[in-house]
Amino acid sequence: MTRWRYAAATDIGLVRQTNQDALYADDKLAIIADGMGGHAAGEVAAAMSIDLVREGFRESQSVEGLVEAIQGANAAVLDDARDNPEHFGMGTTVIAIGLTYDLENVVVPTLVHVGDSRAYQLRDGALRQLSEDHSVAEEWVRMGRLTPEEAAVHPRRHQLTRGVGVEDTIAIDVTSIDAAVGDRLLLCSDGLSNELDGDTLARLASAPNGLEMAVESLVSAAKVAGGRDNISVILIEFDEVNVSTAPIRRTMSSPPPPVVTNTSPTGGRRKRHLTWRVFAAALLLLGVIGAGVAVIHWYAYSTYYLASDGTNIVVFQGQPSGVLWYKPMMVADTGLPVTRLRPADQRALVGTISEPTLSVALSHAKYLNKAWHSTRTPTTSTTTTTFSTSATTTTTLHVAPTTTTTAKRG
Ligand code: MG
Repeated sequence: MTRWRYAAATDIGLVRQTNQDALYADDKLAIIADGMGGHAAGEVAAAMSIDLVREGFRESQSVEGLVEAIQGANAAVLDDARDNPEHFGMGTTVIAIGLTYDLENVVVPTLVHVGDSRAYQLRDGALRQLSEDHSVAEEWVRMGRLTPEEAAVHPRRHQLTRGVGVEDTIAIDVTSIDAAVGDRLLLCSDGLSNELDGDTLARLASAPNGLEMAVESLVSAAKVAGGRDNISVILIEFDEVNVSTAPIRRTMSSPPPPVVTNTSPTGGRRKRHLTWRVFAAALLLLGVIGAGVAVIHWYAYSTYYLASDGTNIVVFQGQPSGVLWYKPMMVADTGLPVTRLRPADQRALVGTISEPTLSVALSHAKYLNKAWHSTRTPTTSTTTTTFSTSATTTTTLHVAPTTTTTAKRG
């Protein structure tokens, strides 16, 4: 068995208009949340976090239960800030100690925290800080960029690097506490730790006149020192302690659990309908695009035309100038020399002789060749003449542009 007694108090302090701190304590769990954000949003974040951590710990009295409860609080605070513009930017620290069960069913006091609220352990009048502040200045101290003295007055000492409601993913420090009977644990918001130094904290928190008196004196001392912030204190004393078999100290970081923003059946149906509509629209769009591509492909290769490859008459399939990315392709070589066509037919071999099928195109090529033969005399010398005739014809073509030029001048 591990058992503790506790006393707790929260105070608005002497300067602030509202108390944005919240706390909760019972015989198994102690939590402090120091909220931040204007228009009372900090109070909302702190109260939500306290409620959700209590609820989560009640469902699972374990380290995982505590961690998941803080992750859930983080998601809930972010979600609330998104839904309510007046809560934009709200957040909170959370520090909690719970009596958790480990794998061997031994109860272990476990500290979980994000932010700059603190936990101290007191033994024989000596004070030891258990938590590390997640503030810019303290992170810089750990990195060696600032001394603790510089950090204590640094303008960024209150700027948190971690907190509930800051980012979607939250890293939570988890520490199992090696407690002994008579040890005291002090949880506090920075309204206490900023006002009182370590020696004063140790002296007042370990006073033997009972926990309630010690808590009262701590709050009073913080107010005497200035009371510039809300002040929250929980003081715990162990009456009975089991020894932990597997002490832990680590940071647990994982994505927050999925947040259901609309749990109503109507919302769910609307979401499903929306999904189906998007799916159907995507299918329709794909169908239209597919049909369009098919039509273009059919048109691009729906015809055959005769051309010259420089020597022979060949057959191309496709449109002579191509269609989009579909270029014409050569599908047959007739073996008939281009020179064995009539001059006019030779000039027509620039894609103007089109046929609907390959066989018709081949027949057309043969027909043109026969037509050339029919204009020749069936002798060997005739063939030779043909070549010279072709050359003559070409010369004639060169004359034509000259004629045109002359006409323009006239
Ligand atoms: Mg504070």
